[in-house]
Amino acid sequence: MRKWEENVRKVTPYTPGEQPKLESMIKLNTNENPYPPAPGVEKVLRSFDVNRLRMYPDPLVNDLRSAIAKRYGMTVDQTFVGVGSDDVIAMLFMTFFNSKKPILFPDITYSFYDVWADMLRIPYEQIPLDEQFQLNPQDYCRDNGGIIFPNPNAPTGELLPLSAVEQIVQANPDVVVIVDEAYIDFGGESAIGLIEKYDNVIVVQTFSKSRSLAGSRIGYCFGNPTLIKYLNDVKYSFNSYTMDALTIALGTAAINDEDYFAQTTAKIIQTREWTKTQLKRLGFVFGDSMSNFIFATHPKIDNIALFEALREEHIFVRHFNHPKRIAPYLRISIGTQEEMEKLITFLENYL
Ligand code: PMP
Repeated sequence: MRKWEENVRKVTPYTPGEQPKLESMIKLNTNENPYPPAPGVEKVLRSFDVNRLRMYPDPLVNDLRSAIAKRYGMTVDQTFVGVGSDDVIAMLFMTFFNSKKPILFPDITYSFYDVWADMLRIPYEQIPLDEQFQLNPQDYCRDNGGIIFPNPNAPTGELLPLSAVEQIVQANPDVVVIVDEAYIDFGGESAIGLIEKYDNVIVVQTFSKSRSLAGSRIGYCFGNPTLIKYLNDVKYSFNSYTMDALTIALGTAAINDEDYFAQTTAKIIQTREWTKTQLKRLGFVFGDSMSNFIFATHPKIDNIALFEALREEHIFVRHFNHPKRIAPYLRISIGTQEEMEKLITFLENYL
């Protein structure tokens, strides 16, 4: 092995969700929103003055930042905007997870946390969920270098009550606790309200799920102004973390359409609950997901064979194997009502 190879950063390899481009497919594998972005987003696309691309964008993303802050009753200095919440979280790791002590996150959880921790050489400990995929807040009340967990969790969809989130934040005043709320709009109670009370909590959200803009890459977070200032200091050194002018305009149009947001999230929640009833009738086992996906397994069949059969039909879901769980699980994103009806019809015939 060559010297440089010995020193290379060995990261946990990450396999991104498939992004097939087929004319007719039902894409339920990466938790995107099945509905188009708010109508105002298309208007911006059609009327955007191309001359604005000649000039640098606003590095502070002030238009979008203040629109997001206003929507959530926060101040601009409590708000940070980045290129997708993946990048916001990566920056939070870089900025706040620097102690020699391990950071804590659940096992099972969003598969990027260990990738970033490895890449940035941050020690970490993964704390197993219980048999029902529940996170026990007590497990996070011990010496550590920082904490991150999604709420609802991914890929399980299980929601931690706000009181349990608060318990974790309160028990860890000396470290930063990151609550990743990528899926909070589908039925959970946000931890944003904790920011006034605790200076060590950061709440991250995204436009990729409830605002139908996964392709534009917009993420943001809220926290105490001191934390946000540190984050901005780190951001300035990394030009690729600066959002482009068109994306800023698209995101601003999306955040300003509250009615459309309310309508589409309500439809997704309704379809999710309908899908739960159908999957239950067909013998699937799953928790009470509060996100835009269902993490399910069928105890009587080969779930991987089902995954392959769905794929043949151009119905894309994701499968997860966990060494400690016997059955592999399927994670099924919630599509339109029509798409989910097609899925259920397929499953009725398959089983
Ligand atoms: N957090 C969680 C829990 C997620 O599932 C995702 C989406 N894969 C993200 C963050 C990142 O979303 P984005 O970068 O599109 O904002």
